[in-house]
Amino acid sequence: MHHLNIEPLIDIMKKTIVWIGLFCLLQWSLHARRTLRVGVGEVCSPVSLSAPRTYIDALLEAGHLPVLIPATDNTHLLKEYVQKIDILLLPGGEDVDPAYYNTPPSPYLGEVNGRRDTFEMALLREAVVQRKPIVGICRGLQIINVYFGGTLYQDLQSEIGATGHKCPKSLSHSTHTIHIDKNSRLYQLLGTDTLGVNSNHHQAIKNIAPKLRAVAHTPDGVIEAIEGIAYPVAAVQFHPERLIRGDVPKLKILFSQLNKWAKNKK
Ligand code: MN
Repeated sequence: MHHLNIEPLIDIMKKTIVWIGLFCLLQWSLHARRTLRVGVGEVCSPVSLSAPRTYIDALLEAGHLPVLIPATDNTHLLKEYVQKIDILLLPGGEDVDPAYYNTPPSPYLGEVNGRRDTFEMALLREAVVQRKPIVGICRGLQIINVYFGGTLYQDLQSEIGATGHKCPKSLSHSTHTIHIDKNSRLYQLLGTDTLGVNSNHHQAIKNIAPKLRAVAHTPDGVIEAIEGIAYPVAAVQFHPERLIRGDVPKLKILFSQLNKWAKNKK
C-alpha cells in the first residue's frame, strides 16, 4: 500500500496558523491605537466648518479619532453624530450668553456667539441623553457648568478683582498656580496637588452646578477644574492642549486618558 507522508503538510499548516495569528495581532494593535472617537463641536464661524487646530492635534497625538461635528438644528442628525462618538469635547471660545443663567449682560461681557450657544446646549443635551462622557476646556468648562444649572462671573476683574487670568500671548507657559483637590480624578491622573497652568479667560464659574464639583482653584479663589459627581464629565479652565508642547508636557495624560478623566470610578 502506498504510504502518504503528511508530515510536511502539517508543518505548513502549523506555520500558516502562526502567521494568521500574528496578522490578527497586528490588526488588533493597529485598531487599538485609535482608542476613542472624540466628537469636537465646531466653533460656528460664519465662513467655515472649524475647530481650533491645537485641540485636534492633541487628540490625534493621543491616538484618538477626532470627529468634527457641524452645528445643526436637525435633532436627528445631532442624535446620529452623538451615537457615533465615544466622548464629547467642547473647546474654548466666546462668552456664554448670560441669558442662559438668567442674568442681565454686564458692560464687561465679551463677544457672544448665539449660534454656538444654541448648538452646544443641544449637543450637551443629546450627549447627556445618550450618557456619553463629556470633557470641556475653557469656554467648554463654562458652558458645561451653565448647562448643568450653574452661573458664571461675566468678568473676573470687574466682579471680584481677580487679575492675571487673561494672558493670551503666553499660552505655552504657565502663568499662575492651581491647587488640585487630592480627592479628584485630576489629581489621580497628574499625581500632583500643585500645578502651574496657562490662562486666557476673563470669565469663570461663580456658582457651581449642583451635579458638579470644583476640584482645582487658584490662590485667589477662581475655579480652574470641575468634575461630575454622578455624570461622567470633567473640564478645566486652562488650556492643556497648548501647554503639552510648552511648559507642562505631563498634561498629555489628560488627552491619552480622556475617558478616565471624564468618568466616575463607579
Ligand atoms: Mn486662570
